[in-house]
Amino acid sequence: LVVLGIETSCDDTAAAIVRSNGDILSQVVSSQADLLARYGGVAPKMAEGAHMQVIDQVVQDALENANLTERDLSAVAVTIGPGLSLCLRVGVQKARKIAGSHNLPIVGVHHMEAHALVARLIEKDLQFPFMALLISGGHNLLILARDLGHYIQLGTTIDDAIGEAYDKTAKWLGLDMRRSGGPAIEELAREGDAKAVKFSTPMKQHKDCNFSYAGLKTQVRLAIESRNINAEIPISSASSEDRSSRADIAASFQRVAVLHLEERCERAIEWALKIEPSIKHLVVSGGVASNQYVRAQLDQVVKKKSLQLVCPPPSLCTDNGVMVAWTGLEHFCMGRYDPPPPANEPEDYVVCLKILIAYG
Ligand code: ATP
Ligand code: FE
Repeated sequence: LVVLGIETSCDDTAAAIVRSNGDILSQVVSSQADLLARYGGVAPKMAEGAHMQVIDQVVQDALENANLTERDLSAVAVTIGPGLSLCLRVGVQKARKIAGSHNLPIVGVHHMEAHALVARLIEKDLQFPFMALLISGGHNLLILARDLGHYIQLGTTIDDAIGEAYDKTAKWLGLDMRRSGGPAIEELAREGDAKAVKFSTPMKQHKDCNFSYAGLKTQVRLAIESRNINAEIPISSASSEDRSSRADIAASFQRVAVLHLEERCERAIEWALKIEPSIKHLVVSGGVASNQYVRAQLDQVVKKKSLQLVCPPPSLCTDNGVMVAWTGLEHFCMGRYDPPPPANEPEDYVVCLKILIAYG
């Protein structure tokens, strides 16, 4: 089986083709980095326009790079949420058009499930049940994956996700926003002293597995203001003293942001092992899981609990089409998909694909 996966939930237009044995035949991502830098965030209408401009080319490149045509596909998988509805619609319409023209089944994919399940493509030993920490721009989820489509949510953010905190910190520190804030902070933090600024760890008094990053964001903003750091002066033009002060904030922020993840994961693992003693893995995925410091710290937590960490490579942690194609394949193989849409369906047809997951 060969499945095309399409992802347009936020600011990346991505497509990939994956075979049921796990071979990745092609992977294409077109990012809206320039738009992001110009507007300091994702503007839905603008992002929709950008997706519409490139979607045909991205899918065509994915097919050509795999030496395939639409006719060779077994099914089309597409992200149907969560995400920006205007953006999701671009991907769904493209997927339905291809599926309708070639009488192909279509699989609607949950974006966060795809972030988690792509780990099963790269780690063939990863069986259910397993735990997953999904950390990205909009989500901070700790789940117990009991079976395909059956997830128990152990924790979520009560305000912001960690990726949002990375992005804002990067913006306030005057880092280069032509790429997302996370990698810029990770790099700058290597120069800094992680103990230089005393930030307090969120939710110490809450003995649950939820997350909060809004308070840490405020602490960071106040620290930046009190040191008179001017985000208008890009870090590349900052004096060496100014630069090292920014690096200390980046490192101190990162230490506490990740410590919060470590504490919640440790508690969640203890709890989950009580109801599912056969758990062997913690998957860490989503954009922030590309971060080497995050991986190293969580690896220590997982080892302490005698589990194994599974982290997809960075290109499969940030938004991509492979995770959508793979998750589509997993559901397709279980017979969960929608029938082919009618050929020549009107472009503005409002679709509602099945959501294939259940939270317990
Ligand atoms: P969601 O999955 O919640 O819908 P998203 O789809 O916008 O969010 P992803 O591509 O999954 O986003 O993740 C993007 C986030 O990951 C951004 O906040 C970005 O700063 C962060 N990120 C990417 N690389 C790194 C890194 N090396 N260190 C820290 N954060 C990172
Ligand atoms: Fe994502």
